[in-house]
Amino acid sequence: MEKVIILGTGCAGLTAAIYAARANLSPLVLEGHEPGGQLSTTTLVENFPGFKDGVMGPELIMNMKAQAERFGARFEYSECTGLKRGDGFLDIEAGGKWIGTRTLIVASGASAKWLGIERERELRGHGLTSCATCDGAFYRNVPVCVVGGGDSACEEATFLTRFASKVYLIHRREGLRASKVMAKRALENAKIEPVWNSAVSEYLTDTEGEMRAVKVKNLVSGAEAEIEVKCVFVAIGHTPNTAPFKGVLDMDENGYLLQQGGTTATNVPGVFAAGDVSDHRYRQAVTASGQGCAAALDAERHLADMGAA
Ligand code: NAP
Repeated sequence: MEKVIILGTGCAGLTAAIYAARANLSPLVLEGHEPGGQLSTTTLVENFPGFKDGVMGPELIMNMKAQAERFGARFEYSECTGLKRGDGFLDIEAGGKWIGTRTLIVASGASAKWLGIERERELRGHGLTSCATCDGAFYRNVPVCVVGGGDSACEEATFLTRFASKVYLIHRREGLRASKVMAKRALENAKIEPVWNSAVSEYLTDTEGEMRAVKVKNLVSGAEAEIEVKCVFVAIGHTPNTAPFKGVLDMDENGYLLQQGGTTATNVPGVFAAGDVSDHRYRQAVTASGQGCAAALDAERHLADMGAA
């Protein structure tokens, strides 16, 4: 019987692992299909406190993992596929077996949705990203585009006008899905130019392999055009990685885990949620780390209350 199982090795899971390991709980950390989480696919991270010159995302993650291992966290590559409630314990299905545990910290993150067009994976970090807060400041005085028509797309486009010379907002319909206030703010911004009824059909790169332009198809007329941009910000939503918990853990209508009473506790005693799996609002490395810390402290208290710490 494990004391603590942690799902996910992004900022939330690894910070939970550091805290749980330092509390002598020897947590078992399961690494899923995106080891290291979203930071492992970014380049320079300039907004994580403590790194005045920035830090590469993968390096930050590797250091967090080494820090957790130093205090006794154990890591295993296996995807969680199921969760069952027992009497005072939980059963986790992972890698084709069931593992019993007293507490579970779900930090399985959320995956950004992508457009599904060619070279999408290799271009990430080379002018293709899903995070304006992370990467916007790299694109000063150059044109960029945002793809999407929801609150995220409007928020990111508005944010990017602080840096970029121009922001194209490329949306597949004529009219935004975003809330009125956010749509209005974006559309009234002189630096934002909406490109309606349009879909990006190709990423075009320069000789260095960096983004140079996008090919855009008008979905009404069928006409194609090239728009010169140095970076494409894809903001078409995220999918929280909560499929194995459907019917067991309470979620909102978009599948994000619900926390209770200002803590990381879920509706199931002993199960805690941290990071992007339960947060569609902030989605930052540092907020995920903070939640991971809180979840480890909540798990530790739960174990102490059970007399199992
Ligand atoms: P969203 O509301 O689901 O919007 C996704 C947008 O991307 C839609 O406009 C959609 O087009 C478009 N889209 C989806 N798949 C696409 C594809 N394959 N190709 C091209 N376009 C595609 O997602 P979100 O904007 O990330 O917002 C998610 C949730 O977080 C919402 O509840 C939102 O209110 C909330 N949020 C809140 C704030 C805030 O309050 N500050 C900020 C960000 C997000 P269609 O419109 O045609 O479907």
